[in-house]
Order: sequence, then structure tokens, then C-alpha cells
Amino acid sequence: MSFRAHLLEESDGKVAGKLVELEESRLPEGNVTVAVDYSTLNYKDGMILKGIGRLVRSYPHVPGVDFAGTVEQSDDPRYRAGDKVVLTGWRVGEMHWGGYAEKARVKADWLVPLPEGLSAKRAMAIGTAGFTAMLAVLELERHGLEAGEERPVLVTGAAGGVGSVAVAVLARLGYRVAASTGRAQTHDYLRDLGATEIVERGELAEPPSRPLDKERWAACIDAVGGTTLARVLTQMAYGRSVAAVGLAGGNALETTVLPFLLRGVNLLGIDSVMRPYDDRIEAWNRLLSDLPMDKLDAMTEEAGLGDLPALADSILAGGVRGRTVIDVRR
Ligand code: NDP
Repeated sequence: MSFRAHLLEESDGKVAGKLVELEESRLPEGNVTVAVDYSTLNYKDGMILKGIGRLVRSYPHVPGVDFAGTVEQSDDPRYRAGDKVVLTGWRVGEMHWGGYAEKARVKADWLVPLPEGLSAKRAMAIGTAGFTAMLAVLELERHGLEAGEERPVLVTGAAGGVGSVAVAVLARLGYRVAASTGRAQTHDYLRDLGATEIVERGELAEPPSRPLDKERWAACIDAVGGTTLARVLTQMAYGRSVAAVGLAGGNALETTVLPFLLRGVNLLGIDSVMRPYDDRIEAWNRLLSDLPMDKLDAMTEEAGLGDLPALADSILAGGVRGRTVIDVRR
């Protein structure tokens, strides 16, 4: 039985992908085979599709860091043929073949059941980016974020995948949400998701001019890193937390110890890849209760496997808005 896949090959140090038909015997080792319905486009997928950052060590390779689908065959008692499942993380799509194919074979430990009440498409509209946004919210709550904050919660890279879900969830939870974006054409979109104010990307992008600035934010979910994160740290209210999620604006961080010493600011690193089962179930349950589905639908675009090369260029250039689900049968 053959299936369609977006296969990456490396030649002379250059990585390129194409649509191919593969035999099932080519699938990697694993104890559950899944017929994939949807995968998605995340920033890391863009890097992998373009061979940036040496995230993939062995070619040929099927990328796609997340997927939702139906179990076809399972040697694990937790899953049976016909079960609906979701996968995010575990370096699938990186160290192991991923979701940009009609079939995937993975370890049962990496899967969770598709949350009840969620379609495969909506689960992937959330995908790794939305799942990570919820992990950030949970971590901020563990560090004291609660309803009734006077100051807004800042989301950087707000019009991207992580940012869009973060804005919609925080707004639903009743926070004032300041959405930082570099794209003027996304202001209405962000307000529709629930942002109460827009912060121009440029306002936060310059390196901080002093070690401590006016206390502006009750919390921050930062998808940008670099000088933006350095600047945000100087603007946090006393004792509050930044959940550092991403590096779309660079991975260097030049700061001073003063926000930590004199303001008691917490810098919380969020990693969605190696999350134990119970954490994943908690995050999916909270997404079901706290992410309005009409907002999720409004931030979702759909594409097919053949669109991936162009989408990779676009997401790395900061040009993708919200979430893009990949219908692998298209
Ligand atoms: P997107 O590309 O969808 O969103 C990133 C957003 O960042 C863009 O939409 C843009 O927002 C902003 N941006 C892009 N380039 C720049 C730049 N040069 N300077 C400042 N801002 C920029 O990506 P995702 O939302 O999927 O991922 C965001 C980050 O989070 C990535 O670095 C990704 O690797 C990371 N990530 C980390 C995870 C983890 O487990 N820690 C899991 C998932 C993602 P706007 O147009 O609004 O300014």
C-alpha cells in the first residue's frame, strides 16, 4: 500500500522537498500506525522545510511536527484501530518522520486521544503553536497570574500562530490583552480575537535604553525573543512573569540582572516538545474550555501538501497570519 508524502532530500548541503508516493514499508519504527487527516504549519516546520538550524539529522525525511488522524494499526493496548488521536512534540517531524504524509508511524507514548468535542481539523488549527500558547498561560497562572489584573497582559508576535491563540485565550479569561505586531493590516484581526490594545512592534524592538523602565505589563507571552524580550523584561510590573516561547526575532538575549533583582521578574521558559502525558491532557482540556471556537475558526487557513514550499518561505519571513492547517489529502 502506498501513500503520499512530502519528502525532503539533502543534496550538496541544500534541502528540497517534493511530493512522492511511498510504500508503507518505508515508515519508521513505532507501535502505532496512523492515517493522518491534518497536519499544520509551525515556525519550526518552516525551518525544517528550508533546512535551517540543522534540526533534521538524517535524510530522506518527512517533516510535519504535529498531526491528527485515525489509528490504522496498533500494537499498544491503549489504542485500537479507528481511535482518533493527536500528536504534538517529541521531535516528530524532526528526528522521526512526521505529519506531512497520509500515514505516520510513531510510539504510542507520544499520542493523546483526540479531545472529545474537537474535530481533527480544529485540533490541528490549535496544533503545536496553540498547545504551546496554552502551556504558557498555565505557567503564568502557576506564577500568580489571575483575573482582576489592572495592567494588560502583553503578547508579542501576536498575529502569528502562538500569538493568535494566546490573544484569544487571554481575552476569554477576562484579561486586558496588549497585542504587539509589526503588521498594520492585522490590527482589526487582533481586535476581533479580543486584543484591547495594539502595540507597534517597533516600540519594543529597540534594545532597552535603561535597565528598568515604566512598569507596563501584568504578564507577557513572548514569541519573538531577542531585543524585544530584553526590552519587555525592563517593563514588567513588580514580581510578574514573562513566558518565553519563541525566537522569531532572534535567539540572542542581552539584558541585565536588574529586572530580576530589583523587580523580582520571573523568566519562564516554555518547552512544548517533551511534555508528559498528564501535562498534555491538562493543556488540551483547558484549550477546550478557554479557546472560543469561533475565534479559532477565524484565525485558521487551510492548505495542501503542495503549498508547503511557499508557506515555508512565508512563515520564516513573518508573513503567515494565525494558523494554517495542512489537509494532507489535498
Ligand atoms: P509565526 O511565524 O506564526 O509567528 C511569529 C510571529 O512573530 C510573526 O507572525 C510576527 O508577528 C512575529 N515576527 C516574525 N518575525 C519577526 C521579527 N524578525 N521580529 C519581530 N517579530 C517577528 O510562528 P509561531 O507562532 O508558530 O511560532 C512563534 C515562535 O515560537 C517561533 O520562534 C517558534 O519556533 C516558537 N515556538 C516554540 C515552541 C516551544 O515549545 N517553545 C512551540 C511552538 C513555537 P507580527 O506580524 O504580529 O509582528
